Amino acid sequence: MSSTSQQRFQKRRSFLWQVTWCVLGVAIVAVCTLSVAAFIIANAHTEHAILAQLSDSVATKENLLEARLQQDRERAALLSSWDAVRRSAMDAKKSEAIESLFVQLLDEGVPVAGITVFNAARNPVMGIGVPVELLPKTMAPTLLIPVVGEKGWSGHIAYAQIQDDNGMVLGTLAIRYDVGALLQNILSVSSLGDTAEVLLGRENGQNLILLHHRYAEEVGGLLFLGSLQEEYDESEFLAKAVRREEGMGRTEDYEGADVFAAYRYLPTFGWGLVVKMDVREAMAGVLALRATLATVGLVIILLAALLSVILARHVTEPVRTLSTRMAKLQPGYWQYRRSVHTGDELEVLDNVAADLAKRLDIFSKDLEGQVRQRTKELSMQFQKDRAILQSIQHGIVAVDAKGVITDINKSAADMIGEKEADVVGKPINSVLRLTQHGKFISTSSHPVLRCLTQKKAVPTEPGIRWSLYRVSGQLIPITISVSPVLARKKVLGGIAVFYDTTDERRVDYIKSEFISLASHQLRTPLSSLQWYIELFGSAGEPKLSSVQKEYLQEMDTASKRMAKLVDALLHAARLEGNNISPANQKINLTEFVQDISEELRSLAKVSKISCEVQIPKRPYMVNTDPILLHIVFQNLFSNAVKYGIEGGQVKVSMNVKNREYEIHIEDNGIGIPKKSQPRIFERLFRAENVLLTDTDGSGLGLYISRMLMENLHGSIRFKSTEKKGSIFTITLPKTVRKTPKKKSSESSQ
Ligand code: ADP
Repeated sequence: MSSTSQQRFQKRRSFLWQVTWCVLGVAIVAVCTLSVAAFIIANAHTEHAILAQLSDSVATKENLLEARLQQDRERAALLSSWDAVRRSAMDAKKSEAIESLFVQLLDEGVPVAGITVFNAARNPVMGIGVPVELLPKTMAPTLLIPVVGEKGWSGHIAYAQIQDDNGMVLGTLAIRYDVGALLQNILSVSSLGDTAEVLLGRENGQNLILLHHRYAEEVGGLLFLGSLQEEYDESEFLAKAVRREEGMGRTEDYEGADVFAAYRYLPTFGWGLVVKMDVREAMAGVLALRATLATVGLVIILLAALLSVILARHVTEPVRTLSTRMAKLQPGYWQYRRSVHTGDELEVLDNVAADLAKRLDIFSKDLEGQVRQRTKELSMQFQKDRAILQSIQHGIVAVDAKGVITDINKSAADMIGEKEADVVGKPINSVLRLTQHGKFISTSSHPVLRCLTQKKAVPTEPGIRWSLYRVSGQLIPITISVSPVLARKKVLGGIAVFYDTTDERRVDYIKSEFISLASHQLRTPLSSLQWYIELFGSAGEPKLSSVQKEYLQEMDTASKRMAKLVDALLHAARLEGNNISPANQKINLTEFVQDISEELRSLAKVSKISCEVQIPKRPYMVNTDPILLHIVFQNLFSNAVKYGIEGGQVKVSMNVKNREYEIHIEDNGIGIPKKSQPRIFERLFRAENVLLTDTDGSGLGLYISRMLMENLHGSIRFKSTEKKGSIFTITLPKTVRKTPKKKSSESSQ
């Protein structure tokens, strides 16, 4: 890892930042959780407390109101039993007592507005203050009736029957109370808050009427809230209270504001009583708490951030020191001195790192020594190998898997005519330029490249005449073999070994020249010998005995065989000297093969061998030299017969391929032993099995055939199994490429 990428890596995943974020994360979560919990608890608690307070308040108000009304009712009952009141009911003139009673009540602070006395005939007989005009239709001993005016509940009247001692009804005392002071004192809820309000409501026909509310002055007293049933259905607290229910909760008031409220039923009047308070005011404390919590939480988080950085720095300091010092360790620098003394796992780690660095130092020094020693040895070995390579007389070239020269010895460079250093790194086919039988070969036919693609050795091929084209333009005859360098079936490269065969070729040439000369010289006496033998035989000399005739026959056979041999030798010599230029004649190959097969059929018949010909019916035209092709065909056919077995078979067949025609000559004869197969096209070579059977032959037929096929741009190959038979195949290209003129230097080889 490079130092910059290491730094980047550290920044991204710094232990310090991880710890900081951890601590800060914990602090944020804790603060947020505590704040939210505190807020929820405070909210619930406040809500509960307010509702309880409102509930208390509505209960207190109801009790006070009921107590007061009860008091007013009882007062009326008590006063009705007074003699003065009784008398007033019976005698309207005695009114001073009522007046003094009125004054006395006012003095006592009772909010009495007026006193009226009715006689037994329900007529008012006397009154003081605000009069009471009518009596209720049905009367009870005491009765309390509220007075609701246009501006709401203005007061109430307490009725009490005036009876004599015998219980006879003398009349009715009606005391009218003013409710203003009562409302002010009893229904005041300012202690609960600014928005706290007491509502009094009652049923009027089907409607719900609000008797007492904050806006009584502005709206002119009563406020119609709508149908009682509908309001009840919508859970309007006042409607519920009017319907004799009691409870508390959160609701919407008649103004549409969100309020906490508690409600109760006032049994005396059959009214509903509600104490309510705006939620916003009630929860103002909680909202303030929320703001405080948020501020405090933020401050705590900031402090926690600061603290976490300090804490993390402190905690991670040894780790960071450790990692910085460990990062410095690298090959060549294994110095590490212990520095952490925290007494915890870090100290153990520091200890281990120091120990490891020490070991690595020793190990690397040891390794360096070994490497130095080994390098020296390898260098010496290399020098030795190079010296061996350079001293080898054969040319040696090493190539990589792509055929690029990686090494070359002096002999090879000298043969090519280049300096060793100049050819290393160049493609082999541009340096080792080869010709075969006078023609430059294609890249794919180069033996080194063939070896690399086929992944197998290309041995010295007998009969193939390789020549090396030197930088100077001169051609050197060579023999070349190439071996692949394989590692687990993968080609790493190849080694080509070649050597100059100029001397061998010269000897060959001299041999050929000699054979040619000797054959020429032998031909003339041989012809005259044959002529005389024939003359002898044809003259029909009767004096010749049968033994003499037999000898004559022997002589004839021997001279013919010798003539054949001389012909073959001459042929071979001519081919070797490249003295043949094939004709380019258009022939019908089908017809050609058919004709020649028929011609040779008789040869097979003599040896009691059947002949089968399987060739296509349609004509196939080809440009070739029919005379040379005839020689090849005759050689192969006569071999098939010669090396066939009695009663055996020779089969001639032909097939057409993409670019060439193939002619097969197959026999089921003695076959060629595996050992002899690689040498079968060599000059004068005969397989060991035929040598044993002593068949007549020179070992030149196939040698000549191969050279002829090369001249015809075709090829010859075979497959054979000993004692089972052989199949020889010759190929002819459908179209023949024009060949460049032979180099003058090649023709001299
Ligand atoms: P030869 O005159 O000996 O036949 P060739 O060059 O024609 O010379 O053949 C070389 C050798 O190849 C033969 O001596 C023989 O051993 C072997 N040979 C060639 N053709 C056949 C064949 N059809 N069956 C078996 N061996 C064969």
